[in-house]
Amino acid sequence: MHAFMRDDEIVGRPMTRRPLRAGVDAIVRMSSTRANYWAELGVDVGLGSLLIVNGWRHHANRPLAATLAIVTGLLAFSFVEYFFHRWMFHTRVPLFAQGHRMHHEHPLGYDSLPFFLPGVVLLMLTGLCALVMPTGFALLMMGSVTFGYIAYGLSHFTIHHVRFKHPLLRRWAGAHHVHHYHPESNFGVTTPLWDVLLGTRYVRKPRGD
Ligand SMILES: [Zn+2]
Ligand SMILES: [Zn+2]
Repeated sequence: MHAFMRDDEIVGRPMTRRPLRAGVDAIVRMSSTRANYWAELGVDVGLGSLLIVNGWRHHANRPLAATLAIVTGLLAFSFVEYFFHRWMFHTRVPLFAQGHRMHHEHPLGYDSLPFFLPGVVLLMLTGLCALVMPTGFALLMMGSVTFGYIAYGLSHFTIHHVRFKHPLLRRWAGAHHVHHYHPESNFGVTTPLWDVLLGTRYVRKPRGD
C-alpha cells in the first residue's frame, strides 16, 4: 500500500507544506529585485506623508503635543530597527532571515522585505495605536515611525553605495561595515543608541591579547 503513497504522506508531513515553501521562496526572490526596493520606498513615502498630513490636521493648534508624538515615533522606531535586526534578521524566521543572509553575502544587492509588507504592518500598527491613544497623536507618531523606517532604508543603502569623505559620516558608516564582519554587534544602522544601552556596541580588542 505504501508503494502508492508519496514521500511526504509516508512521513506524515502535511501536503500544503511544499506550495507554501514555494510561495515564500517566490516572495524572497521578488524581494531581492531593484523594482521591489524602489516600489517599497514609494509605498512607504506615500503612507508616511498620508499619516503625517492627517495627524497634523488634528494637532495643528497643539504644536507641543505634535512634537512629542513625532519624537516618540522616532525613538520607538530606533528601537524597532535594533529589535528586528538583532532578534529577527539574525535568527531563523525565513521571511526575515533569508533576505538578510543574502544582504550579508552581497551587501551591494537589493535584498529587502517584500514591498507591501512594511506598509501593511505599519497600517495595522496605526490602527492598534489609534485604539489606545488620541487618533491625531497615533497618526503623527506612526507617520514618524514610517519616516524613521524610510531613513533607515536610505541610510543602509547609502552606507553600502557611497564613500563618505566627512570623518563623522565615515565613522557612522564604519559602524555598520563592522557589523558585516562582526554580526553579533552594531545592530543599529541609523543610530548607535540601543547598541550602547544594550551592550552590543563593537569594542575593538587591544592588540596583543
Ligand atoms: Zn548592511
Ligand atoms: Zn545584519
